[in-house]
Amino acid sequence: MQVFCSIYFVVCTSMFIFLDLYRHALSRKIFFNHHKPENMKWQGRQGSDNVEDRRGMSPGKIAAGGGIGTIVIAIIVLLLGGDPTQLLNNHDEPVQSETGTVKSTPEEDAMVNFVSVVLKDTETVWGRIFEKSGSTYVQPKLVLFRDQVESACGYATSASGPFYCPGDLRVYLDLSFLEELKNRFGAYGDFAVAYVIAHEIGHHVQNQLGILEKVNERRARSGQSKSKELSVRIELQADFLAGMWAHYEQTMNDALEPGDIDEAINAAAAVGDDVLQKKYQGRVVPDSFTHGTSEQRKKWFRKGYETGDFDKGDTFRGSI
Ligand SMILES: [Zn+2]
Repeated sequence: MQVFCSIYFVVCTSMFIFLDLYRHALSRKIFFNHHKPENMKWQGRQGSDNVEDRRGMSPGKIAAGGGIGTIVIAIIVLLLGGDPTQLLNNHDEPVQSETGTVKSTPEEDAMVNFVSVVLKDTETVWGRIFEKSGSTYVQPKLVLFRDQVESACGYATSASGPFYCPGDLRVYLDLSFLEELKNRFGAYGDFAVAYVIAHEIGHHVQNQLGILEKVNERRARSGQSKSKELSVRIELQADFLAGMWAHYEQTMNDALEPGDIDEAINAAAAVGDDVLQKKYQGRVVPDSFTHGTSEQRKKWFRKGYETGDFDKGDTFRGSI
């Protein structure tokens, strides 16, 4: 299970890993102070009880090496031309061991509220969809952390980007990523943030439906290029599920405003493998794709949004 989780964890987060190992220097101002009137209706709405705020946890120490997850990630960083030493040198990397007071700016507080409302809305939408099909949606937790976090899938830093861990049914998110989304990826607007959360929740839905396990078993038996192709198909389905959530967010919760879907589609495009590779490596290497191109990511998000029909989201058959 540990190996499975570690492998999946790596796949899910590798998109972000090579981008920036120096992001700790970034300031923590969140972009809600430039709140636009056409943004998603979220203020004053009920949030989820499933947010675990670990931002105030004080550091302890982790065993040398940082676990298999760290090492595998470091190898990927190396393959992508990055500097893995920052990860591997963290022999005494702090991990959370104690709870403390969360020091939070008003901008961060607003973002926490927003994340919580989005999570709640995913619970409502997926809860009803599962109920309709005669099953029960198990609500995942969403862990907010700063700088580093310990999960059932291994140790991670903010540089990993947001990720879902099937081993403990949790989505992990450092709020500073949300600022990065705007500054580094050029994805503006609160619905861009909602898309990121909905994508990770999409992995949870895949997990609950047994899709993740099945596909990862196939990946373990496959060669490198087939395995990468399956990874792309997993990711594109998570985009489809994010779009499907947006569909019901509108029809069930009436929470969308004009411009929201454009924000999500823009965010999906901004984190396409081809765009990221061109930006950070100067060239596009399709064989190394793990999440799909910008066009593919936009296409599957839009398909989920327009149809709201799970049966239209089989990214594992035919062309993508
Ligand atoms: Zn993903």
